[in-house]
Amino acid sequence: MIATDAPPASGIRLGGVAQTTVTVREEAASARHERDARMVMADFDQAPFTIAWEVTRACAYACQHCRADAQPRRNPRELDTGEAMHLIDQLAGFGNRPILVLTGGDPLMRRDLFELARYADELGLRVSLTPTATALATEKRMRQARAAGIRRVAFSVDAAEPLTHDSFRGFRGSFERTRSAIAAAGEAGLSIQINTTVCATNVGELPAMVEQLEQWGVVQWSVFFLVPVGRGAGLPLLSPAEHEEVLGWLSDLTERVPFDIKATAAPQYRRILHQRTGRTTGAGFRYSDGLNRPVRGVNDGRGFMFISHLGEVMPSGFLTLPAGNVRNLNPVEIYRHSPVFTSLRDPGALKGKCGRCEFREVCGGSRARAYALSGDPLASDPTCPYEPAPALA
Ligand code: SF4
Repeated sequence: MIATDAPPASGIRLGGVAQTTVTVREEAASARHERDARMVMADFDQAPFTIAWEVTRACAYACQHCRADAQPRRNPRELDTGEAMHLIDQLAGFGNRPILVLTGGDPLMRRDLFELARYADELGLRVSLTPTATALATEKRMRQARAAGIRRVAFSVDAAEPLTHDSFRGFRGSFERTRSAIAAAGEAGLSIQINTTVCATNVGELPAMVEQLEQWGVVQWSVFFLVPVGRGAGLPLLSPAEHEEVLGWLSDLTERVPFDIKATAAPQYRRILHQRTGRTTGAGFRYSDGLNRPVRGVNDGRGFMFISHLGEVMPSGFLTLPAGNVRNLNPVEIYRHSPVFTSLRDPGALKGKCGRCEFREVCGGSRARAYALSGDPLASDPTCPYEPAPALA
């Protein structure tokens, strides 16, 4: 478990970190009022804040926790370039300039990737990329990504210790490759996000990662709490008490690091932040790359939508309930009206402990983990130890 606090940085670095943190937060605060007004108006019943599109499932790696169970070769039934362009047209129809995450597999395995990114950028979508750190992630390609309008790249790092990371990734040398790719992306002018999947195997690595993240100049650390789907079904979950401990540690950490921290598939982080500070995590956080944080909490199907390599629309990449296919239905209609999505956006439909929890609007529990562990996407999130307050008579 998290045995110690983050390792202390040098006095010089601590000074620099504190100053950067203040500057970033002051900048965020100065625009908060106007932004909050805009985001309160944002209606997750009408449009997602973020769309993740699995442009391919092909990937050279075979990571232990891959939700996609990625394969070495591209599936010939993937959306082709014409279908992909049409999809981008339709996504622009949401009208709210959602964030479009081009993900995989390894999106760099698609030859038309930058053509698609450029088109999405031209239509006003805010595009980011989650490449795999293979030999394809060169500085040249990172510069092409930037030129195509991609604003941010997210790389996966699952440990501070290279051997631990490499064993997660199933590829010796992966950690060094990732470090090179991060440097290449930085040289190309892309902002950097790091995604870390946490389970019982690597949770002890988290404190040692903090200093690395500072050195890499990341803008966001997105900590994914394992959802046991795909190859990740074979990994050990944290216990409910461990989830609470790690989320509490992250909430303390967020006060003293120069990057934003986002908990993915752990909306109870918002409950913990709310209990501790009266605010919710990252609400309205603004970045210079424009990939801001929403004021309201995003959850599977609620402010978030996933499109598979075959065009299936799902509430998230971890909640693999197809609600329709973009080959024959408009994704805007699927998001707004399919029963899968509308039920997930209704806190009154939640069952068990989450259904009677006073934090169900703020949190609502991980719908993906509830589904993975119980088969019911509206069941309680079994990894939350919180006991809701008794209802008033
Ligand atoms: S019981 Fe459910 S809604 Fe309440 S804090 Fe836990 S996960 Fe969130």
